[in-house]
Amino acid sequence: MKQETITYKELTLPIIRSDRKSIGIKMEADGSFTIRAPFGIPKEYLLEAVKQDYEWIEKHRALRLEQSKKSADLGDAYTEAELQELARKATEWLPGKVREWASVIGVSYKIPIKIQPMTSRWGSCSKDGNLKFNVILMEAPERVRESVVVHELCHIGVMNHSKDFYDRLYSVFPDYDECRKWLKQEGMLYIRRLS
Ligand SMILES: [Zn+2]
Repeated sequence: MKQETITYKELTLPIIRSDRKSIGIKMEADGSFTIRAPFGIPKEYLLEAVKQDYEWIEKHRALRLEQSKKSADLGDAYTEAELQELARKATEWLPGKVREWASVIGVSYKIPIKIQPMTSRWGSCSKDGNLKFNVILMEAPERVRESVVVHELCHIGVMNHSKDFYDRLYSVFPDYDECRKWLKQEGMLYIRRLS
């Protein structure tokens, strides 16, 4: 038997009939829509239901499309060229920013600053003031990038995460927690692309 369908504007929905009592429009796991209907109900009723729900269907179709585009954009591992481009950006942005914040905090550090891909951290600071930053930090919004710079610089002379460390950090960077949240949530999506 040929699959029954309802067509409205650019939509064509397969009709799945069963001994249910009402008409329902359902989004399937693959993002397509079907219309569920009782046996025997005429197609014009189904068309009416599709018309009524048209806006809802369109909204969900658009959302779905956006999501799949986003996950495709974020999904692939970085290519060598992409990493080089990020490294170029980092080399341009980081040194000046580190200098700026070091003077705000009142610390001095060693140069050169190291920039490299890291899968488990955004930055590091050694006892003797050598700084290292994750190259994919350049994917983050500028304020988030700065929060990592400030975190590492605050470690100079305070090599732990004690209250003193955080007092120093929050005194110059009060919105640190919001930035941290971005790194944990959005940032992890970029880190994953390094593997
Ligand atoms: Zn730390």
